[in-house]
Amino acid sequence: MARTEQISVMQLVDRIRTTSDAYAYMEQLRWPNGPVCPHCHETARLYFLNPANGTSRKTRTGSMSQRRVWKCGACRKQFSVTTGTVFHGSKIDLRKWLFVIFEMCASKNGVSAREVERKYDLTPKSAWFMTQRIREAMKAGPLAEMMTGVVIADETYIGGRLPEMNKKRRKALNAQQPMVPGSRTAGPGWNKTSVLSLIDQDTGEVRSRVVPDVTGATLRKAIGEQCDLATTTLYTDEHKGYKTLAPELAGHESVNHKDEQYARYRNGEVITTNAAEGYFSQLKRSLDGTHHHVSVRHLPRYLAEFDFRYSTRKLDDSARMRRLMGQVGDRRLTYRPLTGR
Ligand SMILES: [Zn+2]
Repeated sequence: MARTEQISVMQLVDRIRTTSDAYAYMEQLRWPNGPVCPHCHETARLYFLNPANGTSRKTRTGSMSQRRVWKCGACRKQFSVTTGTVFHGSKIDLRKWLFVIFEMCASKNGVSAREVERKYDLTPKSAWFMTQRIREAMKAGPLAEMMTGVVIADETYIGGRLPEMNKKRRKALNAQQPMVPGSRTAGPGWNKTSVLSLIDQDTGEVRSRVVPDVTGATLRKAIGEQCDLATTTLYTDEHKGYKTLAPELAGHESVNHKDEQYARYRNGEVITTNAAEGYFSQLKRSLDGTHHHVSVRHLPRYLAEFDFRYSTRKLDDSARMRRLMGQVGDRRLTYRPLTGR
C-alpha cells in the first residue's frame, strides 16, 4: 500500500471507472493489510470468488455482478468489502458512494443531500439516507479513549430565536416550553439547542454533543463521560456551570469574554478558548449555508461530521478517506431508526 498520497477528483475518476474498480479501491482503503472476514475476523484463509481475469461474476440468479466477493475458509461464509458496514445492502452504485464520501471528506462546509441528489442522479430519499449513513460512519467509535491533559470546553446555541419564527409556531413552542430561570435555550422566547464541544489541545481532536442545558450538573456529566477529570485541565469561558466540576479537575482556567478577554498568559501558557470559537463559527456557517435547516433529532449526526473533519484537518483528503473507511464496519444504519418510522 502506498503511503499517503493526495487524491484529486480526476484521479478518483480514473481509479474507479467501473463498479468493480470501486470495490477494489474500497478494499484498498478499508483493508490496507489485506482482506478480513467480517464474520469471524479470519485474515489468512480467504478465497477470491470472482474470475481472476474478468471483473464480473454470475450470481445465483444468473445475472452478472461486479461486486467483488470473497469466501472465508474458516467460517465458510461469503462477504465483500461492504458486508456489515454502513454501505451494506445499498443498491446505489459503489462509485457514487465513493464520490460522495470523497466530497464529504474534502469540503469544509459539507455537502447537502440536495446537492448529492442532483449531482449523482439519485432520489431525494436515497441521497438523504446516503449522507446520513456517511455521517454515521464519521462518528467516533464507542471505544474512543478518554481525553486528558489540556481540554478546551465551550458551549454554543444552535437554532432560531422565536421572534424570527411565524406566529403559530411561536405560540405552540411558548405553550409547550415552561419558563426556565436563567436558561438561554429553554422557555418562552427561545428555541435553541445547546451544544457542548471539547477540544483536546494536544491531539486537536474535537468531540461535540447536544446537551439538554448548560447547568453545572449537566456539564459535569457530559464532560465526565469524555474526559478523565483527575488528569484534565479545562480551559473555559466565564460560564458558571464549569465551576461545579472544577474541584474534581487537575486544573481549571477561564478567560472572561464579558471583559473582552480572549487570551491570557499563565506560566508561559496561553489560556484561550479561541479554537472552540473557530470550530463553532465554521459549524454555524455550514449549517446556515449548506444545510439550511437541521432538526434537533439529526443534529448529533451533523456534529459527528464536523467533528470528524475538524479532528482530521491535518490529514490530506486520501488519508481522511482511509480513516473513515477504518470506521465503517460494525455499524449499520437502517432507515427505520433513522426516521423513527
Ligand atoms: Zn469467516
